[in-house]
This record gives sequence, C-alpha cells and structure tokens, in this order.
Amino acid sequence: MRSVATAIDPVDHSSPAASVAVHADFHADATGLPAGTGAYVLLIRLSDRLPLTLAGRSGVITLPPGNYLYCGSAHGPGGIKARVGRHMRPDKAIRWHVDRLTTGGTVAGAWVFPDGDECGLVTLLAGMPVPVPGFGSSDCGTCPSHLLSWPDGMPLPFSDPLVPASTHR
Ligand SMILES: [Zn+2]
Repeated sequence: MRSVATAIDPVDHSSPAASVAVHADFHADATGLPAGTGAYVLLIRLSDRLPLTLAGRSGVITLPPGNYLYCGSAHGPGGIKARVGRHMRPDKAIRWHVDRLTTGGTVAGAWVFPDGDECGLVTLLAGMPVPVPGFGSSDCGTCPSHLLSWPDGMPLPFSDPLVPASTHR
C-alpha cells in the first residue's frame, strides 16, 4: 500500500514513484532511529562541487553537486541509531570514505532496513550511476560501489523522502 502525497512538493518530483518495491522508513533526523542492527541508505546532498582525496588513491576526484545515496550497515553497539546518528553529525573525525561527503555536504536523512544488508541495497539500487568506483566497498568484493548518484526524477525502489512515513519526534 502506498500513501498519496497531499502536500506540495518543494522539489519538482513530477513523475510518481511507480515502482516502489520495498517499504522503508525515512528518518530526517536521529531522533527515531532504531537501536537494532541492520542496513541503511543515507541521502546526502551536495550543494557545491566536492573535491575528494581518498586513502589509497592518487589524485583528486571531484563530485558534482546533487543527491547521493550511500549504502551502509550497522552491526556494532548502538546499531543503526549509533551509526546513522554519527553520519548525521557534521562534526567528527574523518574515518571512512563517506565521512568526506557527510562533512562536505548535508545528510538529508536515511532510510533504514532493520536486519537488512548493505550489498542487497546496492543491488536494489542497480541502475543508479556510480560516481566513484569502489567508494565504500573496499572490503566488499561484489559491489561496484556503496555510493550511488541519485539523478533528479529517477524513481527510487523504496518510499520517496518527500512522502515520509510518520516519524516519531
Ligand atoms: Zn557491497
């Protein structure tokens, strides 16, 4: 069952998300994130070009402005709440590739998949462009990248953040 958008979208998403295949709650902030383990997709917005230097790579990669989707998993203490909460905090020591994006851009929120698998989410998002091959997937032998671009108007396989399920605030 899919809810019908009644609010006016602030962004032009004129094409309806016709192919929503998986339900996932979208969390715009850390308040209602579940403490269990699982996987998540971060929605990161870059308002400007972001030059990146990555450990183990030579040269600078420049990401264009736009929306990005990062697939990750949380199996440590505090689960999804701790991990995604960290991604949402702009002030942190750089530890992972994705930290460059979450500090250089804005984390608009995250879809959470309790008991989910990050590589399964990458598979679900097949068709989205890969901006940096191998980004975040160095210890995963199968995915082309755990970071994907989300071009404007491209339908997602799960609920659109502009039509969020009610979040607990
Ligand atoms: Zn993977």
